[in-house]
Amino acid sequence: MSKAWTKSDWRAKPRVQMPDYPDQGALQAVEAQLAAYPPLVFAGEARKLKATLAEVGAGRAFLLQGGDCAESFSEFSADNIRDTFKVMLQMAIVLTWGAKLPVVKVGRMAGQFAKPRSTPTEMAGGQELPSYRGDIINGFDFTPEARIPDPARMLQAYTQAAASLNLLRAFSTGGYADIHRVQSWIAGFTDEEEAQRYRAVGERISDAMDFMAAAGVTSETAHELGKVDFYTSHEALLLEYEEALCRIDSTTGVPVAGSGHMIWIGDRTRQPDGAHVEFCRGVQNPIGLKCGPSTTADDLKVLMAKLNPANEPGRLTLIARFGAGKVGDHLPRLIQTVQSEGANVVWSCDPMHGNTIKAASGYKTRPFESVLREVREFFGIHKAEGTIPGGVHFEMTGKDVTECTGGVRAVTDEDLSSRYHTACDPRLNASQALELAFLVAEELND
Ligand code: PEP
Ligand code: MN
Repeated sequence: MSKAWTKSDWRAKPRVQMPDYPDQGALQAVEAQLAAYPPLVFAGEARKLKATLAEVGAGRAFLLQGGDCAESFSEFSADNIRDTFKVMLQMAIVLTWGAKLPVVKVGRMAGQFAKPRSTPTEMAGGQELPSYRGDIINGFDFTPEARIPDPARMLQAYTQAAASLNLLRAFSTGGYADIHRVQSWIAGFTDEEEAQRYRAVGERISDAMDFMAAAGVTSETAHELGKVDFYTSHEALLLEYEEALCRIDSTTGVPVAGSGHMIWIGDRTRQPDGAHVEFCRGVQNPIGLKCGPSTTADDLKVLMAKLNPANEPGRLTLIARFGAGKVGDHLPRLIQTVQSEGANVVWSCDPMHGNTIKAASGYKTRPFESVLREVREFFGIHKAEGTIPGGVHFEMTGKDVTECTGGVRAVTDEDLSSRYHTACDPRLNASQALELAFLVAEELND
């Protein structure tokens, strides 16, 4: 029999995209401290999300995953958390209407701090410095000091994640998420002149709510209408942090990542024999796996066997991110691999990471049109293959930023400099995110 998995086995595997901490003593002290702290989530919640994702895989629910590309220490505030939560609830209602299915809400929140980068160093003003790797690792400022990996940042990330989760849990059950409030926010959006084309759908959602109220279904009579389940997720990139928060589930005796409900493996860290796959295979949480143009059928087979050997429904979500115009080159072959293996997976579409371009102004941006086009291609291919388009994965914020171009309240290339606040990739703003939900709902309703 092979030796049982342990949470530090990843250390013997090749690692990429992780920092070399200059002070190993300081690193070990932080790891010991985190290992003694309470986990951020409980195993029962991760199991519940997994069961819900099994419903998504079977076509009985739809997944909405979204939030910042990278959370940051400087943008940490109750308002930011509330606004992202709020727009996700609005999107979820619109998608529920479109899909006629319950929507599973998973934030890229409360732990989404570590970033893979395309180059290890960055150049500016003739100076070359190590790349910024997310606030949990080093600082955004372009100075040699800021770019040194500092393990103490893990403690700050933990604290921020704990406070974020606390607020999200309060919003989810404390009255803020009441379906009637959320519906009135949607009505506010469709009342706007620019959003007129969505008014008909907005009115149909209102009518459905009025009908329910008349029939006696209210938040008081149907308790579920007053609260929501909201889960957290992040890329499991910084494995020292993940290992320190890994726990044994006292109910099942199986290891669980205590850092978030769902974790995912990025497109740059999915080497079948690498450290990230090694860590993720041993925890019982639902796992996401980004699939990009370079994902081969053979890799996918090995990865599915490693990450979900028991073929458990809800365990593995394949997050397709190919780029508009390229989905047809890649998704059908991967769908065929999944089908021929008889694998249970959730298929989700990330229309952000294959559509990043540099605007003439020098800003990294994503055209709303490309994002929408990739989503449409994803749905079209699943329809043709007879498989289930289970969900969507967006980088978005509840704030009125100008990072992606387009949308009904059109953001132009020239607007990008006005409110460009992301610490990493460009995010949809609140209006663009809700508009996209309306357009996805139209696809689902087809
Ligand atoms: C991300 O989700 O922020 C990310 C880096 O994605 P990918 O691994 O797909 O490039
Ligand atoms: Mn990103």
